[in-house]
Amino acid sequence: MATIFSHPAVPLALASLFPSGALPSGVLLIGVACSILPDLDVIGFRLGIAYGDVLGHRGLSHSIFFAAVVGLGLSFFVPENQAGARWMIFLFLFLSTLSHGALDAMTDGGLGIAFFAPFSDRRYFFPWRPIAVSPIGIGGFFTAAGWRAIASELQWIWLPAVCLVGLLHGFKAGR
Ligand SMILES: [Zn+2]
Repeated sequence: MATIFSHPAVPLALASLFPSGALPSGVLLIGVACSILPDLDVIGFRLGIAYGDVLGHRGLSHSIFFAAVVGLGLSFFVPENQAGARWMIFLFLFLSTLSHGALDAMTDGGLGIAFFAPFSDRRYFFPWRPIAVSPIGIGGFFTAAGWRAIASELQWIWLPAVCLVGLLHGFKAGR
């Protein structure tokens, strides 16, 4: 994973790409939760599930299929602001969940992401992997590798996210 602190950068930035008013306010928090949700799969380590298993870390919970199911399921619980905006709520929650695996696929360690689970067990990385992988477990953050991960996430996740939001706000304000 990228660290749990950095995954929420994606839904926070993503929300600004949607037309104003299309996303009800509470949905942003749900998107943040969705961006962290896939890493609950680390529970599998305790249960003796192997990393490379389809239910292992970066397996099914990091897949496109999982993101679609989560996005679809949750979107029905969110009351829509505007008639017909439900598909945008779905799209936002789907992309928020999927962004987790996408960021993980840009990290430089661990196993790849099973994007096509449960249909294929194959693990994938993107060809460009600038993000230092974060140690698994809380204790790992207070090590040199932990700080290296946080520094690379500031550079490769938060900085682009802040730039995107700044640009979009500037663009909207200028219209
Ligand atoms: Zn992950």
